[in-house]
Amino acid sequence: MTDESAGRLARLRQCLPEAGIDALLVCQPENRRYLSGFSGSSGWLLVSAGTAALATDSRYWDQAEHESPEWQLVKYGQGGRSFAESGLPAFLALGPVQRLGFEADYVTYAEAHAWMERLPGLTWVPVGGLVARLRAIKDAVELATLRRAVAIADEALAAALGQVRPGQSERELAWLIDSEMRAHGADDVAFDTVVAAGPNAAQPHHHPGDRLIGAGEPVVIDMGACAGGYRSDLTRTVCLGEPLDGERFWSVYDTVLRAQTAAEAALGPGAAFGLVDAAARDLIGAAGYGDYFGHGLGHGVGLAVHEDPFLRQNDQRPLVAGNLVTIEPGIYIPGWGGVRIEDLAWITEDGAEVLTTAPKRPIIRLS
Ligand code: ZN
Ligand code: ZN
Repeated sequence: MTDESAGRLARLRQCLPEAGIDALLVCQPENRRYLSGFSGSSGWLLVSAGTAALATDSRYWDQAEHESPEWQLVKYGQGGRSFAESGLPAFLALGPVQRLGFEADYVTYAEAHAWMERLPGLTWVPVGGLVARLRAIKDAVELATLRRAVAIADEALAAALGQVRPGQSERELAWLIDSEMRAHGADDVAFDTVVAAGPNAAQPHHHPGDRLIGAGEPVVIDMGACAGGYRSDLTRTVCLGEPLDGERFWSVYDTVLRAQTAAEAALGPGAAFGLVDAAARDLIGAAGYGDYFGHGLGHGVGLAVHEDPFLRQNDQRPLVAGNLVTIEPGIYIPGWGGVRIEDLAWITEDGAEVLTTAPKRPIIRLS
């Protein structure tokens, strides 16, 4: 087991007594991968003071032995039997468990009910966020992988913007961005790419469609690359040529950019989530656009594109060194369009480092 994997397992084991459990059943896919290294799409972990076991079915036995050699492999599912029928009893035969925690924010009611009916002698304890809290603090290996995912998105955006022309559809530009991410080394896209042109840019998560991108209208592009299981998240707003409605465009763009700069300056260990959010939100409010910034300022990114911590209004919990968060203020005006600018920032021991390097000059010159 690598030092990082051993450290993650040790930190989880330290949390078990505090959570009132002697073992945790892990089923959330990113949590499973974070702890064990196993990247298959189906499997379960059992972690107790003395056990680190991975249960999966025959589709993944080879992969599990390769990716998680230090984890005790429990083979289940022979003849199509379910995890509750064959995997769970095999887990519980590995050592004594009285109070078994399970991930209540991921397991369905029907699944939990079936387990409890089958094993009524156990005390089932719903727990939330145990592994998520560990994942919020990235180690050196994770940071290096995340830097790669960020660089791929930055390079792919530059390449795509070198080819974009008025008259292309949102869908065509989204496809161009996705293929450039693949060409620059992404394993996959981190999420469905957003390309929102003109009035569509007033919808923060617009799905790219057949609308043709016109010269001089705001275009919001939100994209991310997946590399080694880790994701990046990048938004830029551009205009093909000079903006048609220059006065409003520059007023909105400058406000969003100043809000982002203020929030990034407020980042550091000990800074409350709500204080960082307020650094951007107050500035947008003072510029008269407060009603047009509806979402939170940012979120953690890692194996999942949205994970702890979430930078929301009035949340007094503090950032800590090792957090990796987006800073993404936006202004969305119905009928006109919108502007969002999003960076990824790493919280260091004494401040923060913005990992994103994509330029923030919005005008794409048309030759
Ligand atoms: Zn984004
Ligand atoms: Zn985001």
